[in-house]
Amino acid sequence: MKLISIVVPCYNEQEVLPMFYEEIQKIMKQMQDEHPELLFELVFIDDGSRDKTLEILREMSLKDRRVRYISFSRNFGKEAGMYAGLENAKGDFVVVMDADLQHPPAFLPRMYNYVKDGEFDCATTRRVSRKGESKIRSAFARLFYKIMNKISQTEIVDGAQDFRFMSRQMVDAILDMHEYNRFSKGIFSWVGFKTQYIEYENVERPVGTSSWSFWGLFRYSLEGIFAFSTAPLAVAAILGILSCIIAVILFVFWIVQAVGDNIQAGQTGLMCALFFLGGLQLFCTGILGQYLAKTYLESKHRPVYLMRENEEIYRKNHNQDQKNPESA
Ligand code: UDP
Ligand code: MG
Repeated sequence: MKLISIVVPCYNEQEVLPMFYEEIQKIMKQMQDEHPELLFELVFIDDGSRDKTLEILREMSLKDRRVRYISFSRNFGKEAGMYAGLENAKGDFVVVMDADLQHPPAFLPRMYNYVKDGEFDCATTRRVSRKGESKIRSAFARLFYKIMNKISQTEIVDGAQDFRFMSRQMVDAILDMHEYNRFSKGIFSWVGFKTQYIEYENVERPVGTSSWSFWGLFRYSLEGIFAFSTAPLAVAAILGILSCIIAVILFVFWIVQAVGDNIQAGQTGLMCALFFLGGLQLFCTGILGQYLAKTYLESKHRPVYLMRENEEIYRKNHNQDQKNPESA
């Protein structure tokens, strides 16, 4: 028997969850028909949703024993959701996918074929188009991948997604990375292992809206850069050296002007240099500050997420309530 865990982070997904459940059930059945040795578990993460997501998950977990869930004490973000899912998944293989059907469940049988005999440790999809996304957003995304791959040793594939079918070995490797500032695209790539990419056209969300704002994505990409590259620190150093060279040149000018008794020009030059160096120092301190902030957060060893409820707790309470209806 082989267990496949399907990890699904959900944040305000009440509209799409029933659709997702229906789709995934079909696929699980289809896979079991093909490979009778397969068992499934669904691990939903309710990432502090404010809508009926948790109620739907509770309901599902009572009806279907394969449904498990972890509900967070607040919104911790998708990265924390994925981490919680991976940590709690018991499967020999673990799938991570979005609830919004943008990661088509129909790919799962194909992905399983790649990993089932250990030929690959991971099967994932790669979007070859960004259909349905705004032009500016796509342009910024491309720019991000370009910069990222220039300045970081960890290769991040353009269009790669958090839709992954992974072996237990790879999941354990990912869980060994205890960092607090998690940037999964980097982490998946950093751990290595043999990965098979399946290319496909972007699918739009059937209902609901993406919870990523433009600034949210922008901050997330900075997170990626600071988490997987120290190049910005080098930029600070290079700029520092450059400004020193400029200062030497200015110094020569100043001596020439001082000899020529040109006080006015000397003053302007000084002001320029003052502003220039001041700005530069602030800029470099800013970059240092970024890393310091990250180190600060890491050194606190805060938990990545906090659980408020899971299916075990819920089922137990529910059974008790049914035994003594008065107390309910
Ligand atoms: N998500 C989450 N926590 C968050 C934001 C998103 O768990 O704080 C989940 C969301 O429910 C969905 C997946 O992450 O299953 C992808 O989110 P979304 O569709 O908003 O992002 P996009 O597809 O635009 O990248
Ligand atoms: Mg989506």
